[in-house]
Amino acid sequence: MTNLIAEIRDSLREAGISPRKILSQNFLVNSHILERQIEYAAVSKDDAVLEIGGGTGVLTERLARKAAHVYCIEYDKMLASYLRKKFKSFENVTIIEGDALKLDLPKVNKIVANLPYHISSPITFKLLEMKFEVAILMYQLEFAKRMIALPKTDDYSRLSANLQYQAEVKIVEKISKGNFYPPPKVDSAIVEIKLRVEELPVDPKSYGIVTRILFNTKNKLVATVFYAYFKKSLEKDSRINFKKKMDAALSLAKTRVRELSIEDLVVITNELRVFLKETNNQHLLPEK
Ligand code: SAM
Repeated sequence: MTNLIAEIRDSLREAGISPRKILSQNFLVNSHILERQIEYAAVSKDDAVLEIGGGTGVLTERLARKAAHVYCIEYDKMLASYLRKKFKSFENVTIIEGDALKLDLPKVNKIVANLPYHISSPITFKLLEMKFEVAILMYQLEFAKRMIALPKTDDYSRLSANLQYQAEVKIVEKISKGNFYPPPKVDSAIVEIKLRVEELPVDPKSYGIVTRILFNTKNKLVATVFYAYFKKSLEKDSRINFKKKMDAALSLAKTRVRELSIEDLVVITNELRVFLKETNNQHLLPEK
């Protein structure tokens, strides 16, 4: 492997920083992996690419050689200043200093990044609000496994349900921790994300609320979890009747949460909305 440790150490010295754990500063030091990430995204001169967390710019530089334009966001002031100098003569690189979670993200058609792991979940859902062709992103392996997990597996979670409802996700390569400087505690994985071509027929907000309620206790039956959640808001003497009606209204009432596919969750959300409306209980599905 072409090891980039010496180059990255020099860059960090020049930038005047030592890697900070709190900012997930574990830098990829294997140039072959950087090249493969760009190949997985099939980056070409037609592409505008977004990179979150530029670090010392090893990925940025390789992206800039292939893409029409690269937008690179870096939170660390010292690294952002280093990157601005490094890419001063590159007309197709824009360095954006700031927190990727707070900034308005530029319009691009591809995203390639070794993400800061401490913001994996919020940044992924923020990226999903954009339109893009493909994202090739590095995550901690355990997180990546939850992203791609299927029903009836231990890793299947609210993250899997909320992500797969919007996108097709797969692990394209597992990366051992030795490929980073300094090495993190756990291994990583490169994940490919492509947005679903056809949106599923459900109100996104209601779907999000339903998965939040259900995946709190994923080994229980759908009806049991909903009842435990809704009964607090119901008058004592109306609870039994509500439960009976809800059981009849939900075709998957007796299924365990961990067994529900994305399509099942869509059905449940729609049936629950109809049931709550018909029983004048719409307010029980809160706005957030
Ligand atoms: N791109 C480099 C690479 O491939 O090795 C660095 C990746 S490193 C895992 C993550 C980078 O994200 C660090 O440079 C860190 O300073 C930056 N970062 C951390 N939090 C951030 C945030 N909220 N927004 C943007 N960048 C952030």
